[in-house]
Amino acid sequence: MKMRSFDQDKAILYLVATPIGNLEDISFRAISILNTVDKIYAEDTRNSTILLKHYQIRTPIESYHEYSQEIKEEQILKELKEGKKLAVISDAGLPVISDPGYKLVQLAIDHEIAVSTIPGASAGISALIASGLVPMPYTFFGFLDSKHTKRLKELEDLKYIPHTLIFYEAPHRILDMLLDMKTIFGNRNICLARELTKTFEEYIRGSIDEVISSLPLKGEMVVLVEGYHDMKTIDDPLIKIDELISLGSKPNDAIKEIAKMGNLDRKELYKAYIDYKNKK
Ligand code: SAM
Repeated sequence: MKMRSFDQDKAILYLVATPIGNLEDISFRAISILNTVDKIYAEDTRNSTILLKHYQIRTPIESYHEYSQEIKEEQILKELKEGKKLAVISDAGLPVISDPGYKLVQLAIDHEIAVSTIPGASAGISALIASGLVPMPYTFFGFLDSKHTKRLKELEDLKYIPHTLIFYEAPHRILDMLLDMKTIFGNRNICLARELTKTFEEYIRGSIDEVISSLPLKGEMVVLVEGYHDMKTIDDPLIKIDELISLGSKPNDAIKEIAKMGNLDRKELYKAYIDYKNKK
């Protein structure tokens, strides 16, 4: 096991959280680190310059984004090996989270260079705590694939996770994303958290259908989705079968699906469903 303690004079890679909207959401320590490092690597220097100007930080800044990653990684590693102290920031929130930086962290660790996190806002967790959905356990996914077929496959893989799910999405793709989500997950409860920490911060809570009815919406958004409920704890698998049929499933497919979801015997569930319908 490798342990790394911090030596004041040695090279270090700081991962610094920046605000997700409101410029005041930054820690005193983040400002102090950004002021004292040798250089700041930013995803987009134009965006980050606004923040640095606001706090009168005059540290040299250079771009580090996914298109120039490999060349920049070599350069950054060289600078760290020379003993420099560097900070990595993204356009918003935590670097590395749906943003570049992960490779740099790996490289620094491989070369026994200290890595330190300077925490702060991240859109997913900030949205989770205000969503009203069960906060733990949660699964953070970030962006689903932009292509329909791949997105459906990703959603299939997430379907039975009994955790609150956290997704990032762009406003021009939100409708397609929610339609695919409903196809795979059914009409689950969700929360669309929009423009967090900004003037028009908003939370739209309800079923996928209800949230779809409030589209189109602009701005940055996080989608939080209630987790899969085990059928043993869900009120009634027979009602769930009716729900799937009302969403367009064939009765046999709905029974198969619910049996699989609840780990129930398909033939017994079939009989129970026929009895239930006959009694109705
Ligand atoms: N690194 C960031 C973090 O820690 O949250 C995420 C960066 S990712 C490239 C950008 C996405 O984060 C946006 O498309 C949106 O889904 C989400 N996001 C960022 N800021 C947000 C905000 N103020 N309100 C809602 N969502 C936000």
